[in-house]
Amino acid sequence: MKPATQYIHAGSHPDPTTGAIMTPIFQTSTYVQEAPATHKGYEYARSQNPTRTALEEALAIIEQGKYGLAFSSGVAATDAVIKLLNAGDEVICGNDMYGGTYRLFTKVFERLGIVFHAVDTTNPDNITSAITAKTKLVWLETPTNPMMNITDIEAVAAITRKHNLLLAVDNTFASPALQNPLTLGADIVMHSATKYLGGHSDVIQGALVVNSAELREKLYFIQKSCGAVPGPMDCFLVLRGIKTLGIRMKAHCENGAIIAHWLRNHPKVAKVHWPGFEDHPGHPVAKKQMRDFGGMIAFELKNDSVEEVKRVLSKTKLFALAESLGGVESLVNHPASMTHASIPREERIKNGLRDSLIRLSVGIEDAQDLIEDLAQAIG
Ligand SMILES: *Cc1c(COP(=O)(O)O)cnc(C)c1O
Repeated sequence: MKPATQYIHAGSHPDPTTGAIMTPIFQTSTYVQEAPATHKGYEYARSQNPTRTALEEALAIIEQGKYGLAFSSGVAATDAVIKLLNAGDEVICGNDMYGGTYRLFTKVFERLGIVFHAVDTTNPDNITSAITAKTKLVWLETPTNPMMNITDIEAVAAITRKHNLLLAVDNTFASPALQNPLTLGADIVMHSATKYLGGHSDVIQGALVVNSAELREKLYFIQKSCGAVPGPMDCFLVLRGIKTLGIRMKAHCENGAIIAHWLRNHPKVAKVHWPGFEDHPGHPVAKKQMRDFGGMIAFELKNDSVEEVKRVLSKTKLFALAESLGGVESLVNHPASMTHASIPREERIKNGLRDSLIRLSVGIEDAQDLIEDLAQAIG
């Protein structure tokens, strides 16, 4: 089945009792058993819920993997992956990551004895150099949030295979419509389903997809033991969101390309970070591993004072000033003070994330309307 068909049908089976075409929202905490331990596969809703089962099946199919697991948020999904490890184990991760991932790694798991080495993963040699006898996992984000850096997943997978390490990829920015890390050799794909999978800015959720049954068992054990599961209503919303993922991503990519080019030609814009540009350092890899370049764009103004950035951000009308991304509506964000404020300033600047960087999540509105909004805001 082609992806466009999978988005509509993955995980959907008519309800056996009524024929309802949509999987019902099974708003229940428990299930009646015929006799002690004789049940229909559903015991208690932290462990199993039919709405969640339908979603997890859909997640696996659209990521071209075998097993999906849904979590109460993207960071809860990341948390479950790190809980595969033990104190003393080491993780190699990117030096440009979602701020909440950075916070979870450095403020929670370092305290519990897991060691993180942040390197520039756009050059996979940096990963090889950071490997020690204690390394267990490589955590990648590509494209990165917010710098739009690209890492070659296949090249990193060759390294992790050789050294017997797990490779996890945060695929939130690309979505399964543009990139499928499992097919490139990753062991675990992570999503903030809050973003493109949900697609309508109305739910917080996370997802993991794997191919290994053993890994699925370990992650399922963590999911039910730690309990960061999504409710059935949220599972229903993400299932519904996935149905339009294909056409939404097409529209995000089209608008993203139009806006990236328009920004690049604007006299007041200094730099536009978007992997679709041929002179973007990650363009050849992006072209190889992604089907299109997405709707996420970061840019810097020539006047890079924070005051000027604040002036522009206060003037957009269609682009709402808000954290998050991947919804049908366009959003603008100031990473330094919003999504990435949890990263120390020197750390941010060292990795190229300047105080003046502006991030856009280009929605699926009319591109001309979006351009007019940016034009009047930038002035
Ligand atoms: C939002 C986001 C997360 C965290 O997901 P939540 O659903 O907010 O917990 C992780 N990674 C990336 C790239 C994100 O954009």
